[in-house]
Amino acid sequence: MKIVLLAPPGAGKGTQGHRLAEHFGARHIATGDLLRAEIRRDSPLGGQVATLVARGDLVADDLVLEVMIPVVRDAVRTGGYVLDGFPRTLPQAQAAYEAAKDIGAVADVVVYLNVGQAELVRRLLARAQVQGRADDTAEVIGHRLAVYAQATRPLLDYYADRGLVLEIDGEGAVDAVNAEMVRRLSDVVPSATTVPMRKDARKPS
Ligand code: AMP
Repeated sequence: MKIVLLAPPGAGKGTQGHRLAEHFGARHIATGDLLRAEIRRDSPLGGQVATLVARGDLVADDLVLEVMIPVVRDAVRTGGYVLDGFPRTLPQAQAAYEAAKDIGAVADVVVYLNVGQAELVRRLLARAQVQGRADDTAEVIGHRLAVYAQATRPLLDYYADRGLVLEIDGEGAVDAVNAEMVRRLSDVVPSATTVPMRKDARKPS
């Protein structure tokens, strides 16, 4: 199964993405987690993105695509993906589609987790107590929600035009939201996955 999770910060993409991936035997790919790992490793990429991530600004499309496209390609060969936090801009979505279309990697469905603003802020501030993420301060949270509204929310129309959006009410408890997602997703049939033939694969006799 190939799923894109589209939702504002704090809607539960991480938790629900992890569970969905387990349920469907797909790989949970969280762009923010990949970027934070680079920052922790102090890699050249980590150095380039650290300030942006801490401020809640988006990382340049080219950099994100460079990180994501190989990981997505790989996931498609092994059970599909649940993308959490990617694409986040229209150019990312368009480039991802171009890279995916010839290899059977285009998303089957875009799950839009709908959670109201007040609940988002409440959850993000609660998470700040537990995880201590640099970008979970009240000020940065406000900025991230504004960035989402401006850069990412328009993707809903882009995907709705292609008939891909499944809207889920994300305000409930984790288990209830998860059950509803799984129930609604069971009607979605995964499109064929292209598995490149190994060079040494023997022809059938
Ligand atoms: P997240 O963990 O999804 O909330 O992402 C944390 C931060 O990583 C974001 O605020 C951005 O700075 C950066 N980031 C994550 N995904 C993307 C993306 N697709 N495009 C640009 N920046 C991203």
